Amino acid sequence: MTQTQLTIALTKGRILKETLPLLKAADIEPIDDILSSRKLLFETNHPHIRLMILRGSDVTTYVRFGTADMGIAGKDMLMEHLAEDNHSKDKGIYELLDLNIAKCRLMTAGLKGQRSDGLKRIRVATKFTEIAEQYYAEKGVQAEIIKLYGAMELAPVMGLADEIIDIVDTGNTLKANGLEPWDSIADISSRLIANKASMKMKHEMIKSIVEKIRPVVAG
Ligand code: AMP
Repeated sequence: MTQTQLTIALTKGRILKETLPLLKAADIEPIDDILSSRKLLFETNHPHIRLMILRGSDVTTYVRFGTADMGIAGKDMLMEHLAEDNHSKDKGIYELLDLNIAKCRLMTAGLKGQRSDGLKRIRVATKFTEIAEQYYAEKGVQAEIIKLYGAMELAPVMGLADEIIDIVDTGNTLKANGLEPWDSIADISSRLIANKASMKMKHEMIKSIVEKIRPVVAG
């Protein structure tokens, strides 16, 4: 009998380097050099397990549709995806484990010394538009959300927005552009996720991977 296939979607970039030791703990190793190769789909030491390399925002999409059974994505991407899902009532993803890697914070930020809480209506530039809509609605702030795909820090500097919502790690990027962090929206780290249907159909396989990774990330 052929063994059930399992596809795991990984986030490329800085998260990937920290992800590989966790997969190794679960005895999953890509055959090619995943860090230097330009390939996007990798065979592993297990003929039935494949790895995909995607942008963080696409990992949740592949897992939600079940094209990938499992995935590793930042909590920021999961929050954005869940906020989107609240509109469609479709919640196809389980969050299985906090991997405690790629830790950072999702924050509001703006020009240093120019915070004004008195504005009736603000403009906010971010790539996290769903999180932003929810955040300002809960605060009762009227916010016009402007979608940007990168270099959010420029928006307040150039007068496009009053504030931004972005990922902050050391705060150096904000500082280098004359900005300062304001409010913290959420602590972020990478999470192991699974498609809900895969979780039922491939339960033993997924459970075995989770149980091997859990002791490595605990605490
Ligand atoms: P920093 O200058 O250290 O505050 O880093 C901030 C920049 O790095 C932001 O523009 C983020 O897009 C990116 N960044 C830092 N940490 C992460 C992370 N864990 N996940 C995704 N992006 C991050």
